[in-house]
Amino acid sequence: MSGQPTTDTNEPVFFHPDLFVVPTDGQAPYLLGYKCEDCGKTWFPKLEICPSCWTKLNQIKLSRTGKLYSYSFIHVGQRGIKSPYAIGYVDFPEEVRIYGQLAIPPESLKLGMDVEVVEGVVRIDKNGVPVMKSYMFKAVE
Ligand SMILES: [Zn+2]
Repeated sequence: MSGQPTTDTNEPVFFHPDLFVVPTDGQAPYLLGYKCEDCGKTWFPKLEICPSCWTKLNQIKLSRTGKLYSYSFIHVGQRGIKSPYAIGYVDFPEEVRIYGQLAIPPESLKLGMDVEVVEGVVRIDKNGVPVMKSYMFKAVE
């Protein structure tokens, strides 16, 4: 035993594989929506049938950017997330509103701002080591 800790086996788990895609070819990540074959409404997260008209849904690639509809800044958050942090709802062009963590500093948060989907660490362990990755939203630069 060398006594040297290794991080090779500590890769964060990738969460939400049926909602969020990170292409392995270096293309930008995106979220998956579920669009109704009949009424055309798009849903998120994944559903089997449309709650409006009971018709089959097809998986679609959502736009990479949306507008920040609302947000909240959390000072005393849940375990596994480094406080303080921001959460919010983002409106996408496909007319679907999606909740997520915001990788945006509080002084930059503004209603209606353009945000994009990125991959980020959404949970850490008690030592601050990343344990789970998923989608987050950051300001469009
Ligand atoms: Zn429908």
